[in-house]
Amino acid sequence: MPRCPECNKFVPIEVENEDADVNINGASVTAEIRLVKKCQECDCELAETVFEFAEEADHVMGDECELEEVDNGIELTDSGGARYKKRMLGYNISIQLLCSCGWTGEVTGEESIAASYFDELV
Ligand SMILES: [Zn+2]
Ligand SMILES: [Zn+2]
Repeated sequence: MPRCPECNKFVPIEVENEDADVNINGASVTAEIRLVKKCQECDCELAETVFEFAEEADHVMGDECELEEVDNGIELTDSGGARYKKRMLGYNISIQLLCSCGWTGEVTGEESIAASYFDELV
């Protein structure tokens, strides 16, 4: 177990995600997704990584069209970590969209990086 530099204890480190910061411009949907490794003892943030999500909605935009976000769901992904396989951390997102013309749809995406590539915060 790693030692937390804040509380100096050997503690489990959990990875959490923050709510995606979604932006919509025309048909393009972008989101900032931040994953953070947190000490479970003192709650301090130990390392982070920020993903830039970008997708085009599969919708032919008319002059009056305006997309809005209805909802979004993020799931953390955590794989590997076995002896010969790097641990990979990432996310899986789906963003539900509604257009002013009545069209509904979603954009989805996923991305991950090696756990060791997180930026240290302390
Ligand atoms: Zn701590
Ligand atoms: Zn539309």
